[in-house]
Order: sequence, then C-alpha cells, then structure tokens
Amino acid sequence: MTTTRRPLIAGNWKMNGLTADGTALASGLAEAVSAAANRSYDMLVCPPFVLIGAVRQALGNSGIALGAQDCHAAEKGAHTGDVSAPMLKDSGCSFVIVGHSERRTDHGETDAMVKAKADAALAAGLTAVVCIGETEAERDAGKTLEIVTGQVRGSLPDGATAANTVLAYEPVWAIGTGRTPTNDEVQEVHAAIRAELNKLISAEAEGIRLLYGGSMKPSNAEELLALPDVDGGLIGGASLNVEDFLAIAKSCP
Ligand code: PEP
Repeated sequence: MTTTRRPLIAGNWKMNGLTADGTALASGLAEAVSAAANRSYDMLVCPPFVLIGAVRQALGNSGIALGAQDCHAAEKGAHTGDVSAPMLKDSGCSFVIVGHSERRTDHGETDAMVKAKADAALAAGLTAVVCIGETEAERDAGKTLEIVTGQVRGSLPDGATAANTVLAYEPVWAIGTGRTPTNDEVQEVHAAIRAELNKLISAEAEGIRLLYGGSMKPSNAEELLALPDVDGGLIGGASLNVEDFLAIAKSCP
C-alpha cells in the first residue's frame, strides 16, 4: 500500500444470511467502526440484494459503504429477476461488484459482459469493483499474468478513474479454499495489473485501488495488506463474522 491510496476493506456476503443475520452483522460493524477514531481504511459491505434495505438501515451513519454483488448492464427493461445499477443507487448503494469469478463461472459472464456491467455502474454513479483472476489450470500453465492483464483490458469500464473503479485480483483457486498465493506472487500480479492500467489509463493508474481477494483472514491479512500494490481486500467467508472482518480491517497499514 502506498500512502496515497486509502485501503478499502470490502465484504462480499455472497448468498448468505436472512434479515436478522444481515442486520446483526451490519449493526455490529457499524458500532465498532463508528467508535474507531481516525481509522485508516474505508469499509464496504455487499449483502445479497434482498438485504440491502435492512443493511442500509443498520449501517446508519457509521460511514460504512453499501454495495451490491452484481447488476444488469441495462438501465431498465424486460429482464426478469435482474437488478439494474440505477436501482442499486436508488437503494443506497455506492458500489457494485462485477465479474466475480462465481458469476463468470455460474452465469457464463465474459469480459465483454463484465465491462458492460461496469459501464452501467459508472453511468449510474456507482463505483465498480471489477473482479479478475486466473484458474488453477491457468496458473499451472504459467499463464497468470497473461490471463489477468487480458481481463483488465477486457473488463475495465470506459472512463475508469481512481474515484469510480476498484479492481479486485482474486485467484479462482484461492476463493473459499483456505489457500493463497505467496506474498511475492500476489505482489507480482498486482504490479502487472498496475502496469497494464498505466498503459490503458496512465493518469489514473496510480490512484486506482487494487484489492486482493481469496482466503484473506485475520492471520494473513497484515502481510497481504502491507504489499506495495495491495490496497485492501475483498473478503468472502471472513466478512460474515464481525470480529474477523474487523480484525482484517485493523491490519491495514
Ligand atoms: C470472494 O468470494 O470474493 C472471496 C474472496 O471469498 P473468500 O474470502 O471466502 O475466499
């Protein structure tokens, strides 16, 4: 992390929790974060769509940002079951995750689809958290940097700036598995992402926050968050527990 980029600690709750669970989690975080004077990080929680209203209320004026886990690329229309970026903005969200590997796998989302969603997010005034990452087979084949930089080129929204775009590097094989790349491997990929951003949007590249995601937990957060090009974390499992998520946040340099 450099001192110019403020760390972002983001929780992806995935398809977990009913109203009581989401409210309790958000209230616990709100209470702790409101009491933390001069905290050095931004915090974001991304509950399932149906909990957004209840979580918004529970977060109150804690300063914790609210986001969703996906949006449709269209502003409105005949898309049964989908939710648009303007709807998320209207519901109190300021961020939306796009291109999570579970969406890419479960719903066949391509880089072009992810880019269209990220474009829609920016058009609605949301910050897009664009996820990228290689599979285990791609890493074993020595293709990690090629795959990840290709995803950056293919998924980055038009007009990406440090204010409206965050990238999350999540090796697919590290998500929910308890396995992580070595610190050197994480830094190598983040540096390559930063270099690719420099080629694409030079003026903004240094300010864009690059999150690491994949089995981040209290025991490994401090070393990951200290890496020069890691500007926060996208956290799945450990974001469902108030103490663990806070412990990760407190590990920020
Ligand atoms: C994620 O789903 O974005 C994630 C990183 O999950 P976990 O922290 O559980 O590996």
